[in-house]
Amino acid sequence: GWARAQTGLNGLGPPQATSHFYTVKNRLTGKVALITGGARGIGAATAKLFAGNGAHVVIADILDELGTTLADSIGGRYVHCDVAKEADMESAVQLALMWKGHLDILFNNAGIGGPTGSITNLKMDHMTALLAINMNGIVHGIKHAARAMIKGGKGGSIICTSSSAAIMGGLASHAYTLSKEAVLGIARSSACELGIHGIRVNCVSPHGVPTEMLVSAYQTFLGKMDLSPEEVSKTVGKKGSLLRGRSGSVEDVAHAALFLASDDAGFITAHNLVVDGGYTSGCSQMS
Ligand code: NAD
Repeated sequence: GWARAQTGLNGLGPPQATSHFYTVKNRLTGKVALITGGARGIGAATAKLFAGNGAHVVIADILDELGTTLADSIGGRYVHCDVAKEADMESAVQLALMWKGHLDILFNNAGIGGPTGSITNLKMDHMTALLAINMNGIVHGIKHAARAMIKGGKGGSIICTSSSAAIMGGLASHAYTLSKEAVLGIARSSACELGIHGIRVNCVSPHGVPTEMLVSAYQTFLGKMDLSPEEVSKTVGKKGSLLRGRSGSVEDVAHAALFLASDDAGFITAHNLVVDGGYTSGCSQMS
C-alpha cells in the first residue's frame, strides 16, 4: 500500500511490478463478471483478481482447455464464446444470468493482433477478419451486457480493452490500430446512452505487456521466432516505458480493470484509463 508507494517515490529502489496483487480484497463481493478473452494473458489475470475480490467470474474464450482449468481454479464458469459471433456472446451473457441471476460487470477484452505491412498492400479480407473480433466482438459484448444490465435495473460496469495503438500511429498494424480506435468510440457513445441506467462504460488501454499476443508480434516483426517473453519485456522497458526500464504486466492492467469495475469508480464513465508507464504521453523522452 502506501508504504510500498513511498518506497518507490523516495527512490529507494526501482518501481516494482505489482507485488500486492492479491492483497486488494472484496472490491467486488457478490458481483457477477463476464470476461471475454479470459483464458490467458490480461483477461486471465483479471479473472483471478476479480475472483479474489469476491466476484463470480464467467470466462468466455475460444481456448476451451485453458479457460476451463482457470475457471475451475477460481470457482467460476467457462463458456466457449467466439466474440465475433453475436449468438455466442448472447449465450455467454445468458449463462451468467442463469448461473447467478444477474450480470454486473463485463470485461470486454478479447482481441487479436494483425499482420503488419504497408497500407498500400492492405488486404481487405485480413482487415475484415480482424475487425470481426476486435471491433464487432466489442459491440456484441456491450450490446448484450447492456440489455441484461438494463433489465436487472441495478446498473453495471463495462470495461473495454483498447490499446496505446488507438492513441499513437505506427505501433501496430493498420487494421489493429483502426479496431482499437473503434473500441474507444463505441465505448464513449454507449456511455452517453447508458449512464441514465447507472451503467458505466470505460476503456483500459495497455501498452507493451509481454503476453503471448505481444511476444508473437515481436517475433514476427523482428523475424526472431525464438524471442522470449523476458527479451520482449526488456525491449519494451527500454523503449516503451518512462519507469526506469520496467515494462507493463498483466497484473497492472488487471488492477486498472478492477478499479473501473468497482464502485470505487462510481463517478467515472466514458473514460480511457491508459496503462502504459507513461509511454503515450512522454515518448519523446525515450529516444
Ligand atoms: P492474449 O493473446 O494472451 O489474450 C487474448 C485472449 O483473447 C486469448 O485468451 C484468446 O484466446 C482470446 N480470443 C482471441 N480471439 C477470440 C475470439 N474470437 N473470441 C473469444 N476470445 C478470443 O493477449 P493479451 O495481451 O492478454 O490481449 C488481451 C487484450 O489486450 C486484447 O484486446 C489486446 O488487443 C489488448 N492489448 C494488449 C496489449 C499488450 O501489450 N499485451 C497492449 C494493448 C492492448
